[in-house]
Parts: sequence; structure tokens; C-alpha cells
Amino acid sequence: MASVQLKQVTKIYDGKVTAIRNADLMIEDREFVVLVGPSGCGKSTLLRMIAGLEEISSGEILIDSKKVNTLPPKDRDIAMVFQNYALYPHMTVFDNMAFGLKLRKFPKNEIRTRVTEAARILDIEQYLDRKPKALSGGQRQRVALGRAIVRKPKVFLFDEPLSNLDAKLRVQMRIEINKLHHKLQTTMIYVTHDQIEAMTMGDKIVILKDGVIQQVDSPLNLYNEPINLFVAGFIGSPAMNFFLGRVEQNGELNFHSKLFNLNLPESLGQKLKDFRDKEVIMGVRPEHIHDISLSSGKSISKPQKIKVDVVEPIGNEIFVYFSDPENNYCLRMAPDILHQAGENIDVAVDLNRVYFFDPRTDKRLA
Ligand code: ADP
Repeated sequence: MASVQLKQVTKIYDGKVTAIRNADLMIEDREFVVLVGPSGCGKSTLLRMIAGLEEISSGEILIDSKKVNTLPPKDRDIAMVFQNYALYPHMTVFDNMAFGLKLRKFPKNEIRTRVTEAARILDIEQYLDRKPKALSGGQRQRVALGRAIVRKPKVFLFDEPLSNLDAKLRVQMRIEINKLHHKLQTTMIYVTHDQIEAMTMGDKIVILKDGVIQQVDSPLNLYNEPINLFVAGFIGSPAMNFFLGRVEQNGELNFHSKLFNLNLPESLGQKLKDFRDKEVIMGVRPEHIHDISLSSGKSISKPQKIKVDVVEPIGNEIFVYFSDPENNYCLRMAPDILHQAGENIDVAVDLNRVYFFDPRTDKRLA
């Protein structure tokens, strides 16, 4: 078990591509941390630097408070699970799991004990004599996990391990890995591009964009208190709606955009004081725009007219899409009324749940 710390870590490939810029990050012992962001944001690079598979250009990486910058991967006491499983096709499941221990010259009975124990935890005892080609994708992924578990490493690293599985199996394996974390109580660092996977698995989530850490926080804090436009738009599905508009104050505080004209509560005056007669971006999550016929409450705005473009009945909820010439927007409603495309409806915005962002810096207004 171990903590992992990054201090001002930068990675520049070939003197040209800056894949990670000045990353500072503290991962506590036994924490499950997810690195998430769009393709190319640098998550694999970050993970591979922790593993020792990639040199760092500057900064420090500490495992258990010990600097490991130049330590080769085999001496870092970490185990990595990859997307493509990387199993040896000619070996049985048992031998695949035992391979790393044999290399390290573990005694035979210790190897047997560890492999059997891992197989039991992963529920693959009955497949120990099979070759990987005789296993399903999910079973192969379990073998790959087993090979990591038998090493009893200080830290587990996962690089998009579920990307090759179908949607249903992915959800199952996600739960399995969560259970495994509870059982093993070991530090785990997990890379994914999928925000749902990140939100459901991480104690702590690290959001990356263009090689820069944007925010490090718990899933719910990221959802409720995003630090900037990128995080606000990345976390949540369907994504937060963004309305570009102007703030005006002539007695009342108002926000005007193409679609919505809202009379804002005075309590927002302080937050918006530097934005009078200037452009600002208002963010509203789909669940905070309501069909007026179904909602009430004192934080609800006056009715705003929208024209329904598309209706998506998911079953337990309905997504209603509407637009202005530039953007599409979404509102989420209970499946009580099924609106039709082309219909005009009145909606209201929950003014306690609106976010404002500076369009020049993308930062959320505090
Ligand atoms: P992610 O895992 O988030 O998709 P990566 O860490 O793979 O992102 O890549 C981050 C950036 O570094 C990208 O711009 C990518 O093209 C670049 N990159 C990754 N590996 C190399 C490499 N070996 N040589 C040069 N550039 C690389």
C-alpha cells in the first residue's frame, strides 16, 4: 500500500509535444483515483510516467514518499492492467497469472496459493486450465486483473481496461473492480475517457484537458461545483446547457440571451457585479430547466417559450431538445407528459441552480 505524489511533472515528447504540463497531484494510500478527459489530453502519458514506462521531462514522482523518477518499472512495486489484456495465448490461465511470480523466482507453493486465491476472488477458478482463446472478453479481463493481483503490488494502474467490452459487461466489470478495491484496500489509479465510468468508480477524479489538470475533486463536487466551463460541460450527461447572454441592471438584475430573458435574484448581484452590460455565459443542467406545467417553487423563473425539436423517451425519463440558431439545448423531465416535436411549450429555469462563467477565461464566477 502506498501514496503517489506528483510534483510539477511535465512531459514533452521529442522536444515538441507537451503532453503533460506542471501536474501537481496527491493520491493518498488506498484511494481510488480516476484520470479522465478527452482523447489526447495526456491521461495515458501520466499513468505511464507513474508506471515508469515513460520518462518524465521535469518534476518529481514519489511513491510512498520515495522519489522514483529514474527507478525502472520492475522496481516500483506497481502492477498495470491494459485495455488489450496482454495475455500470452499459448499459456493456460494459471500460467498467465503465475508468470510474473515465476520470473521473480517465487517458490512453487507460494505461487499456487496466490494464483488460487486471486482466481477465487475473481471467480475464475474453473478456467485455470484453459487457454485465453477459450475465454470470453470479460473472462480474459479477469485473468488480466488476476495477473496484477497475485503480485500484491503497492499500487494498481489501469489503462482503459474496459474499453474492449460491450456496454453491459462494462457495467458489470466496473462493479467488480469497485468491489476488488474494497476487498484489497490498495491504491488504484484508473484511466478512462468515459465520464460515467469516472463518476461511478473514483473516490477522487482528476480532470485533464490539453495536458493540464483542471480540477481534482469528488464526483459530486465536480458535478455541483465545477471550476470552469470545461469541467461543467464534461461532467454530466446530457451535458450542461450554456447560454451566451448579457447581464443588465436597471433596478432589476436581468440576463438576456437569444432564448431566455431571466429576472435574476438579487443574491446573484455580487457574483455578476463586474459583468454589467457585458457578455457572460450561463450554465444550466438539463434537470434544472422545467416544464412549467409540472413545476412550482419560488426560485423558478418566469415562463420562457421554447419550441421542441426532438423528444427522446428513455423510459424512466424524457430528454427534450430545443435550439437557437447556434446551439442545441436539452431539458430532462419525468415521463409524465410526452411532448411532440414542433410543439411550443413554456419552461422555467431553477434560478438557484444556474452557473455563470466568464467567456474570456472560461472560469466560473465565484
Ligand atoms: P490520452 O491518453 O489522454 O488519449 P496520451 O497521453 O496518449 O493522451 O497523449 C497525449 C498527447 O501526447 C497527445 O497529443 C499525443 O499525440 C501525444 N503523444 C503520446 N504519445 C506520444 C509519443 N510516443 N510521441 C509523441 N507524442 C506522443
